[in-house]
Amino acid sequence: MKIKIQEEEYNLIIDKKISTKNTYIRVKDNLDIYVTCNTFTTDKSILKLIIDNEKSLIRMINRIKRKKAKEEYFYYLGRKYDLVYLNQNNITFGEEKVFVPPDFSLEKWYKKEALRVFQEELDRIYNSYLYKIPYPSLTIRKMKTRWGVCNVKSHRITLNLELIKKDIIYLDYVIVHELSHLLYANHSREFWKCVEDNFHDYKKIRRELKDYE
Ligand SMILES: [Zn+2]
Repeated sequence: MKIKIQEEEYNLIIDKKISTKNTYIRVKDNLDIYVTCNTFTTDKSILKLIIDNEKSLIRMINRIKRKKAKEEYFYYLGRKYDLVYLNQNNITFGEEKVFVPPDFSLEKWYKKEALRVFQEELDRIYNSYLYKIPYPSLTIRKMKTRWGVCNVKSHRITLNLELIKKDIIYLDYVIVHELSHLLYANHSREFWKCVEDNFHDYKKIRRELKDYE
C-alpha cells in the first residue's frame, strides 16, 4: 500500500499479528512506514491512526532524512567532503570531494585512519612531553560522552574515534589531557598546570570541544 505524507509517497507495510495488542507505527531507515497491529485491526482504522499521527510521522521521517544526509558527508581532520562513489579501486581526494570505490565502508576507513593518525600524534606528543611519564598503550573506540579516557593503572589511553572527523588540534589536546592523567589522576590545579605546560592554548580548545557535545 502507498501513502502520501506532505506530497511525498511512502510504502505502507502492515504487519498483522494475533499476539499484538496495540498498534505501533515505525519509520524504517529506507523510509518505509511500518505498522504492527492486531489481526482484527481494520485498514481503515490504521489509516485514521496515521492521519492522526501525521505530525510525529513527519518528525520521524525528517530525523531519518537528516541522519542519511549526514552519512553521505565525509568528515576528515576538520574538513568536509562530498562522498562520491566511483568505479575505481582506490580512494582519491579532490578539493571538496572524495572519490571512493563502490564497496567503500566509511566506518572501516575511519578506524584504519584513526589507528594510523592517533598513534602518530600520540608518539609525537609523547616524545616532546615535558615531564617523564610511562609510555601508554592506545585504544580507539566510539564513545558517546567522552573524548578520551586514561586508565592510570594499566597506562592505557582510549581515544574517541570521532576525533578523526575533527581538526587535529582537538586530537592533540585530548592526547595531552590524557597523558597528563598519567601524572595526576584527577582534575586538580596541578593537573591543569601540567596540561597548560604541554598545550598552551588548551582553554580555548577545551571550550570548543565542550560546545561540540
Ligand atoms: Zn580528564
